[in-house]
Amino acid sequence: MNPQPTDSTRVLVVGDSPALAQTLATAESGLLRLEVHTVSSILEAEARLESLQPELVFVDWRLSGLESFLERIRSRPIGWVIIGPPLSASEVVRLVRLGAHDFLLAPHHPDEVLECLRRTVVLVRERRRAVGMTERLQHQLQQLSVLYEVGQTLTASLRLEEILPSIVEAAIHLTRAEEGGVWLLDEANEALHLRVHRSRDAEAISAAFTPPMMMPVADSLVGRAVRTSRPILLGPGVHQLDTGVLVRSLLYVPLRAHGRILGVLGVLNRMQEAAFSESDVHLLTMLGDYAAVAIEKARLFEAIQAEKGKLEAILQGIEEPVLVLDFQETLILMNPSAQQHIGLPTQAQGQLFRSVVSHPELLSLIDRKPPIGQTVRQEITLPNRLTFQASLTAVEGVGYVVVMQDITYLKELDRIKSEFVSIVSHDVRTPLTTIRGYVSLLPRVGPLNPRQQEFVEKVERAMQTIVELLNNLLDLSRLESGYALSMETCSLAEILNEATQIIRPQAEEKKHTLTLELPPNLPLIQGDPRRLEQVFLNLLSNAVKYTPPGGRITLRAREQEGYIAVQVSDTGVGIPPADLPHIFSKFYRVRREGEGAEGTGLGLAIVKSIVERHGGRVWAESEVGKGSTFTVLLPRHPIHPTLPSMPRVRGDSAQDPEPSPYKQHSQPDGIASHQAPSKGNATGEQ
Ligand code: ADP
Repeated sequence: MNPQPTDSTRVLVVGDSPALAQTLATAESGLLRLEVHTVSSILEAEARLESLQPELVFVDWRLSGLESFLERIRSRPIGWVIIGPPLSASEVVRLVRLGAHDFLLAPHHPDEVLECLRRTVVLVRERRRAVGMTERLQHQLQQLSVLYEVGQTLTASLRLEEILPSIVEAAIHLTRAEEGGVWLLDEANEALHLRVHRSRDAEAISAAFTPPMMMPVADSLVGRAVRTSRPILLGPGVHQLDTGVLVRSLLYVPLRAHGRILGVLGVLNRMQEAAFSESDVHLLTMLGDYAAVAIEKARLFEAIQAEKGKLEAILQGIEEPVLVLDFQETLILMNPSAQQHIGLPTQAQGQLFRSVVSHPELLSLIDRKPPIGQTVRQEITLPNRLTFQASLTAVEGVGYVVVMQDITYLKELDRIKSEFVSIVSHDVRTPLTTIRGYVSLLPRVGPLNPRQQEFVEKVERAMQTIVELLNNLLDLSRLESGYALSMETCSLAEILNEATQIIRPQAEEKKHTLTLELPPNLPLIQGDPRRLEQVFLNLLSNAVKYTPPGGRITLRAREQEGYIAVQVSDTGVGIPPADLPHIFSKFYRVRREGEGAEGTGLGLAIVKSIVERHGGRVWAESEVGKGSTFTVLLPRHPIHPTLPSMPRVRGDSAQDPEPSPYKQHSQPDGIASHQAPSKGNATGEQ
């Protein structure tokens, strides 16, 4: 390869060699343009070396100090040619070992000089290129390692106060800039706020860049990086920034994460002339990409922390006891109220719930584990004699959340009310019996005219309703006040048969088909037979009452895993979804246009009360115009009154303001019903 004649080659001749100087002068007009300098001693040569930076040095081997000179500078990319009279082979070897590249010994022919010149120039240039490449590679490696280190710092930290300074310091380091800063966009994307500004030389930091400084996106240079979503490169030259500061070069890159601009990363030089290159743009963009992701992550973390703080404050302030368990039943959160009411030590947090709580009702609530998104409720009386309505909700990704509402005062009110009702009913019943007696005697004490007869009958009917109401009220208050049931082993088959027999005349009167479907060996159960018969009589008489003549009423029972499920189905008017959640509440009656069915609205409340006293559950499914099905689930041995999670409609017994009777609920095995969307269900579960 021949050297190109474009650049001049600097040559230094050390020693007194006029013939060589003459030849070099001739060579200058050839392919190579030479800039020849001559010095006579090694000392002089050494002094000129720095300022001259020659590519070739011709040095006379006879000069004193040559050896140590060569040793000192052998690593420099310079071509060494030894000149002078011929020398011995051993001398040649020694000089080659010291770094000499070529020899031009007297007498030399001009062609020989030229050839040597070319050879050495090619050699030196190759070497210089190699050195340059190595330097560039080293620099790139260094940049990569800086980027890697920054990447590590950024991913390790979630705090903006740590992330932003390291981004700026890395930017300065990578681009060899004097100063750098990071600007973040505000929420409205209208202004950029300088969050961190750093200088390579801490003392050179300018007052013109003191955070928090603000620049409008609309008409500022830094804002242009946001508006155009591209890097902004200024320099070389002198430029005045919006702040009035003069810079020689500047580079801004937008910080982009997930397609959104978060801010701008910038570097600038005010003193040094060096401009930023394309490679700086590339590097800073790469750093910006890392930085943007880290900033976004940190912001997200900050937001989550803030939300967490708020939630914790709310939780701490809530009067109701709240507990949160993960799906492995580890207590992950509790508020002070829960701690105080349940009597939990602070260390309970982080422990298995069962290892810190022994209250049987709380444990039985946890055992009910509803499916994700659903809630089960249970009344719980704590050792401090307070009664709570506890709800357990399974929350996806969290676990189980228990919220306990103090209903002690409601229970007390209920007790007082029941007592009052019981006393009043009792006291009213005695004079009522007297009135009834005398009214029934009226026809006997003298003939009544037809009008009088009609009035007496009306009075008797009205009194019959009052007596029924009083009986129901007394019944309910006895049940609710915990009046003992006469539990015995009884045959549900017999009870159902008996109830069917009693209802059949009413059913026939309305031309209904009444069917009883019993499996051959329905097991015996523990229960109060008189009360259980009352349950099915109530359900059957409702079915008769609320089914237009000629309907079908079916009573069926089946056994399943320790429970017996009894269903009363009819083809009657059905119950509107809005009423369904309330039908088990006391005095709740569905209002239907033109309906004449008489009743007190207490029948289903009594049913529910009796079933629950047996440790069972009752619920209803219904579709307007098609009919209703009431299901009673009774445990064969009602030792544990707790049942597996039952289908229920939130809002039962006026506890939930927003009933959702359209929800499809899971049913206990074997009695699953596939509802049409317009169909609802309700349950007697509290
Ligand atoms: P009532 O004395 O009014 O029958 P219940 O407590 O027995 O009181 O029933 C409450 C309400 O539920 C009734 O008003 C009635 O509208 C409705 N209901 C009960 N059973 C049925 C049924 N089988 N079909 C339609 N509606 C029913």
